[in-house]
Amino acid sequence: MKITDLRATPVTVPLEAPLRHANGAHWGRFVRTIVEVDTDEGITGLGELGGGGEAAQSAIDGLKRYLVGHDPFQLEALRFKIANPTASLYNNRNQLLAAIEFACLDICGKALDTPVYNLLGGKVRDRVPFASYLFFRFDHPGTGSGEIFSPEQLVEHARELKATHGFRCHKLKGGVFPPDHELACYRALAEAFPGDTFRFDPNSVFSVREAIRFGHAIEHLDNDYYEDPTWGLSGMRQVREAVGIPLATNTVVVNFEQLATNLRDPAVDVILLDTTFWGGVRACIKAAGICETFQQPISVHSSGELGIQLATMLHLGAVLPNLTFAADAHYHHLVDDVIVGGKFTYHDGSIAVPDGPGLGVSLDRERLAYYAEVFNKLGTYAYDRDPARPDWYPLIPNTSWAKPEHTDSASVPGLAELTDLPTKPYA
Ligand code: MG
Repeated sequence: MKITDLRATPVTVPLEAPLRHANGAHWGRFVRTIVEVDTDEGITGLGELGGGGEAAQSAIDGLKRYLVGHDPFQLEALRFKIANPTASLYNNRNQLLAAIEFACLDICGKALDTPVYNLLGGKVRDRVPFASYLFFRFDHPGTGSGEIFSPEQLVEHARELKATHGFRCHKLKGGVFPPDHELACYRALAEAFPGDTFRFDPNSVFSVREAIRFGHAIEHLDNDYYEDPTWGLSGMRQVREAVGIPLATNTVVVNFEQLATNLRDPAVDVILLDTTFWGGVRACIKAAGICETFQQPISVHSSGELGIQLATMLHLGAVLPNLTFAADAHYHHLVDDVIVGGKFTYHDGSIAVPDGPGLGVSLDRERLAYYAEVFNKLGTYAYDRDPARPDWYPLIPNTSWAKPEHTDSASVPGLAELTDLPTKPYA
């Protein structure tokens, strides 16, 4: 079989309300790029890439001259074509490799009429458990609702998510407000859901000292782990020595070199495997095998996803015997998807691994065209913008924390344009 063409389609899919991240960033809507790989046997494979726009489209176009004629079963040769590990210092193309690998795995599964998990060792579980992944949010400028700011709002939101989806594990994305406000929110969650587990992730914005202080203040709670409290392996190592909670990362151990460094001189306990950051599902499985040998816990990370990427996370989660933590997904914050049948559904806090051939998802062409049109209208999304902290940089923490005040979404650049975005699935 040979690849005959590649196509990239950026799409914008609305979120229930804008999600606030650390580093002053926020997602008002999700911009993703759907990648399609055609073959001479009439089979098309699906991939997905974060972000979007001209850059993603031209990056995929740029691969055409190397990949047309390539056999999609030749996945190791594909890795060397796109992200040659000996040249990776100069040219980290893992995310592009991942998008093409997803599509090739999808093609291989479809060609053999079997789900991708059967190409990866076979599934050891039928469902993958997920955490609730809670965010501080702006209100949606179209509806005026959805704000998460206070401990009460956060707990109410978590209660709704738990009632709807069955989550028994809750992750709070922090680094948005001063640490004591977020501490109060995290403690309120732990108090509201006895018997559940919790994880806090301020996206590395704390100083080492602040990370240790915050860590001590949550040590007594039922924490799965404390995720990227500070920046860098050295910073994390200092926090790890002082705080009695396992540390997790999706920032300082995201490739095999860093994994080796961390095994020799541990800075982090739990490695969060991201099918995009690591360069595909197969790289994550390889990393999980190393972690199994060294008794290093793992989980599945979410860098934002629509149904295609979620399918890769489900197939990954299905085949990892050493997956002992719930996975993360942004998915339940989306109002729609571009796959046939609409969004995947959670049941008892988990999602069923798709059993169809390949990744087990297919594109809803009408929805794809509709959300591509939304992207064309609004363009890409500038994720890093916070007018409250114009002089804020992640490596100089705590110099200008915004006051823990309610912020009207109307005052935030880039959010007004969400007013006309649908807040219900496209029909
Ligand atoms: Mg993280």
